[in-house]
Amino acid sequence: MANVSSTNPIEKLREKLPFPLKRLADIAYNYWWSWTGDRLSLFRNIDPQMWHESKHNPVAVLQSTSYVRLTQLANDPVYIKRVKALAEQFDRYMTETDTWANRVAPKITYKNPVAYFCAEFGIHESLPIYSGGLGILAGDHLKSASDLGVPLVGVGLLYRQGYFHQTLNRHGWQEEHYDDNPFEEMPIELLKDDRGEPITVSLEIRQRTVKVQVWLARIGRVKLYLLDTDREDNDPIDRWLTGHLYGGNQDTRIAQEVVLGIGGVKALTAVGIKPSVYHMNEGHAAFCTLEIAREEIQRTGKSFYDVEESVRESCVFTTHTPVPAGHDAFSPDLMDSYFAHYWPQLGLERDQFLALGARRLGDPWEPFGMTVLALRMCRAANGVSKLHGEVSRKMWNILYPDKSENKVPIGHITNGVHARTWTAPLIADLFCEYLGEDWSTRAADAKMWAKVDEIPDAEIWWRHQTLKERLIAHTRSRIKASRVRREEDPDFIEIADSLLDPNVLTIGFARRFSLYKRGYLLLLDPQRALKIFGNPERPVQIIFAGKSHPADEQGKRVIQRLMEWCKHPAIRDRVAFIENYDIYTAQKLVQGVDVWLNNPRRPLEASGTSGQKVCFNGGINCSVLDGWWCEGYIADAKGKGTNGWAIGEDAHTSDQELQDRIDSESLYRLLEEEIVPLYYNQDKDGVPHGWVKMMKESIKTNSPAFNTDRMIADYVTQIYAPQSAATIEPILASASA
Ligand SMILES: *Cc1c(COP(=O)(O)O)cnc(C)c1O
Repeated sequence: MANVSSTNPIEKLREKLPFPLKRLADIAYNYWWSWTGDRLSLFRNIDPQMWHESKHNPVAVLQSTSYVRLTQLANDPVYIKRVKALAEQFDRYMTETDTWANRVAPKITYKNPVAYFCAEFGIHESLPIYSGGLGILAGDHLKSASDLGVPLVGVGLLYRQGYFHQTLNRHGWQEEHYDDNPFEEMPIELLKDDRGEPITVSLEIRQRTVKVQVWLARIGRVKLYLLDTDREDNDPIDRWLTGHLYGGNQDTRIAQEVVLGIGGVKALTAVGIKPSVYHMNEGHAAFCTLEIAREEIQRTGKSFYDVEESVRESCVFTTHTPVPAGHDAFSPDLMDSYFAHYWPQLGLERDQFLALGARRLGDPWEPFGMTVLALRMCRAANGVSKLHGEVSRKMWNILYPDKSENKVPIGHITNGVHARTWTAPLIADLFCEYLGEDWSTRAADAKMWAKVDEIPDAEIWWRHQTLKERLIAHTRSRIKASRVRREEDPDFIEIADSLLDPNVLTIGFARRFSLYKRGYLLLLDPQRALKIFGNPERPVQIIFAGKSHPADEQGKRVIQRLMEWCKHPAIRDRVAFIENYDIYTAQKLVQGVDVWLNNPRRPLEASGTSGQKVCFNGGINCSVLDGWWCEGYIADAKGKGTNGWAIGEDAHTSDQELQDRIDSESLYRLLEEEIVPLYYNQDKDGVPHGWVKMMKESIKTNSPAFNTDRMIADYVTQIYAPQSAATIEPILASASA
């Protein structure tokens, strides 16, 4: 049909591209490219400037590239060969049927998949709908589910403005900025029905009908459905329901959670998916259990209490928060205004309804807890590390008064990271050579990782140094741009070009600046810190990054103190703070640092994942024994770490100031007596063999455990389909490299 242009954005892009490049349209609209062999260069080569400006968004690049440039590429035999090879690899990946999941859990099908609900997804910097660890974990979950062939769909929200952009002003104070996400230029597709009208579902929110439309992002074989209320036929206020991630007050928050939980279940029905398992990743989505019940009540005419058991059978829950205050809970008033029309549809009275989210019964002011609702309505619940499982059992014992603490039905599955996303191509290439071309599909295979010992020290060291140089180049250019924007002193701008030194021991510290993460710990004794960083023979340097929640004044004050440090004359070429932390900067950091520092207040780090990303690149962790590091850290008979360092060891007190002093003392001592001497003990070629030995230990011991292939396998065999857990199969992801 000539001259009829398509409304499907992939078709539309394909129409624009010259024949030999047409397949780039399919690849650009599937984030599979972002973790695959040739990942960056094929799109970057089209227009490096646009690639950079679009935050590495291939759809935006292809849409804006001129016809002249496209024909030029279509005439380049080398380029079209690369396109062809990538397209073939993509087709193989997408059509593979003999997958791990298909062998181990054939009962989960694409018709009745696992539906994974989360308020944020961190897939790639060009899809900014994440704020931190929870989102990155969700993104890595989808990627490994795709690689292992687990039939799974994601459900989330498409935020018009996402999380905020961070700049720091001349006083080091964080300022928040919001930009519209240009959905039409992003690798997502608005779902439409046969008549070309957007597919919508309707919700009753604050006594208005809100229409929700559904976008699709493709993450390999996994489909991620993103809900959006920004439609012309909605009230202007309701259009902003999906405006910001974690932006508003309790009122916006509950409204968003209604959209995610209730809207999410309706949206899946609207697109013809009937999940066999609903996985709530954190409590935000727990309202979905109510909607599943409501649909069943409507279909069968049964009572809520009669369908409750079957709802439980299909629902599972992962909790992420080790402090009671961190769990969403809404006042009875707020619940009234959002649910007064809803509980009659469940055949419940107000009291019966509110009891579903109450920790204690009989108190009229008892808030409605999302975690409580999830624990009530799910057949399985888990924390995200061994220690976090224990903490959660203790915290929620109150809901199970007849059970002792260790019998509380909350288990744990320790988080991991997606190896193919976080390993630098330069290191991946080394793994191909020494571990085998298929290393990335065997990420959970400890025997394979043992071969890391065969890599010559100098070989891994120069690659690591090269990555550190790239990190430093990235840091300098970002810092310089920030200083120019702030109109700092010309001298201070100028020295950004020589900031940091690749030969100096480099520490990374990047994460959200919540107070419990103690970004200030390293500076607790400024004199001692100055001595360590400013040591003329064996200096140390550090790169910080991270945002503080807009309402978190204390977090912002920590950032401000660090910014003062960046100006301190004695060490200003040794300290840097990169603004606006995102996945791209995270990759540069975890791939380039020598040491990854993490010093949360124990046991507030449920798992943490950034330190795991470092291991795949040969970085070494120096961390409080909290979250995943409790399980990862290995010490020898004398109590010395062999694959990293433990801050504070096992000294715990409830006096927070005292704990800070104990932990900072331990950190200084580790730096002075162990970390710095080991790093600077180098041979005549500059290779620190003792250090490299520890790098290899870090890779070898942590990689097989703390990756999302292992994690997804655990979810499948323990939670999604425990009945098929009898099959013992090596965890092999589909080859994509
Ligand atoms: C991995 C990651 C995090 C999580 O960091 P933690 O130290 O585990 O809290 C946060 N933000 C970004 C951008 C990340 O890549």
